[in-house]
Amino acid sequence: MIKKFYITTPIYYVNDKPHLGHAYTTIAADILARYHRFIGDEVFFLTGTDEHGAKVAKSAEKVGKTPKQFCDEISALYTSLWDALNISNNDFIRTTDQRHEIGAKKFIEKLREADAIYEGSYEGLYCTGCEKFLTEKELVDGKCPDHKICPDKISEKNYFFKLDKYAKKVQELIEKDKIKIEPENIRSEVLGLFKQELENFSVSREKVAWGIKVPWDESQVIYVWVDALSNYITALGYGSSNDANFKKYWPTDLHLMGKDIIKFHAIYWPAMLLAAKLAVPKHIFANGYFTVNGQKMSKTIGNVIDPNDLVKKYGSDAARFLIISQFPFGQDGDVKAEKFDEQFNANLANGLGNLVSRVTAMYLKLDLKKCKGKVLENKEVVRLVTNAWKNYEKFMEENKIDQSLKTTFSLVKFANEYISVEKPWELFGKDDEKCALVLCNLIEIIRHIAWMIYPFLPETAENILTQFSMWDEESKLEYAKLKKWKRFDLDLQVKKAQALFPRI
Ligand SMILES: [Zn+2]
Repeated sequence: MIKKFYITTPIYYVNDKPHLGHAYTTIAADILARYHRFIGDEVFFLTGTDEHGAKVAKSAEKVGKTPKQFCDEISALYTSLWDALNISNNDFIRTTDQRHEIGAKKFIEKLREADAIYEGSYEGLYCTGCEKFLTEKELVDGKCPDHKICPDKISEKNYFFKLDKYAKKVQELIEKDKIKIEPENIRSEVLGLFKQELENFSVSREKVAWGIKVPWDESQVIYVWVDALSNYITALGYGSSNDANFKKYWPTDLHLMGKDIIKFHAIYWPAMLLAAKLAVPKHIFANGYFTVNGQKMSKTIGNVIDPNDLVKKYGSDAARFLIISQFPFGQDGDVKAEKFDEQFNANLANGLGNLVSRVTAMYLKLDLKKCKGKVLENKEVVRLVTNAWKNYEKFMEENKIDQSLKTTFSLVKFANEYISVEKPWELFGKDDEKCALVLCNLIEIIRHIAWMIYPFLPETAENILTQFSMWDEESKLEYAKLKKWKRFDLDLQVKKAQALFPRI
């Protein structure tokens, strides 16, 4: 049976232009989506933009635009970046889409019908920077610790969600891994939150104009977080007459996000879904925070990296490689931007690119007429490649994508060493049969490398396979066949091609 795989990134808040953090999570999601398509799953990969809230309205006003104009412009920056980075999302949802509005209203209606909502008044602190209600305890010197501004004191009528009614159940689901939360330290943090008092939260705001109106009370708009979270179901057609995708793909197989928004995804979202009698997400995975060259990314320091610049300088595949290979996925880490050139040259130009061009050149030089019959494989090499696939898959299934990439590049390293040891160039004319054996083994290793990097560097994988006249036939094959060691005849059509990654 074909498995479905529904994967999401958070929808990104349009108050900010896309930066490295957004690119990081989205590339990771893309790699996993491509991998799952590769192994034969039916994948739905969703990303999008979160466009409502007081903060967006303010930002638009500052630049003299209507909120919608402002959102259109910023949202387009995201879609164009995803094009540049070759992101293979199946859909892009915007919370200003009409289809989203319909579904979001339906969702909050369901919560009300389930008696999970009551009217109350909120008196307290609100940070527009976070779009979050804050408690005194959370402040540092009276200020929001993230935005270093004093939160607004607000007093308004709100509708509240009865979190107390569902929190216990959510906690149980997390404890039993029915909602699997990873990495482990984030899971512990989330479980820790249940030990403190979790307060019922507002699902609407008064006096905020830019938002989706609460269907039974138009003096209120749906709180931006509730609005945003519901994108995961509205994009699938929830609440509309065309909900085939919702029936097929819900619940999410994997919600990916930065760890700063874990509480909303791991507690509030499942609680609301339970109230609406919908299935809860199966798996929530939070990636860590990162610094750039050892410092927090900030405009004042001037170390903000625009992913578009990386694509311009290194190309789409190499930008993906550089962004995702910096540190273990799921942990905090440092992006060594000052070492991008060095990493590019070492891994891509000298590592993979050089391997492919050397093997191509030598194969073209080989006098094939002197080599009889089929070439035998080297058993040790076969074992090495088979093991590499095992590790690669295991890491992919555990979402340790950087480890899968490392495994692949260990094969690149091996192949380059194999050339140095066997010295095929010394065998020309002396022992052509042995020379053919070495080169055919190398081409077969390269074929495996190409398929392993396919989810990571899709253009490069296709280029390599095309160069060895394998793409047309192989891209139609099933995954199980592709990863098997293949013994081929010596009539392989190998084309000379341009360097995959010219040195910088
Ligand atoms: Zn804040």
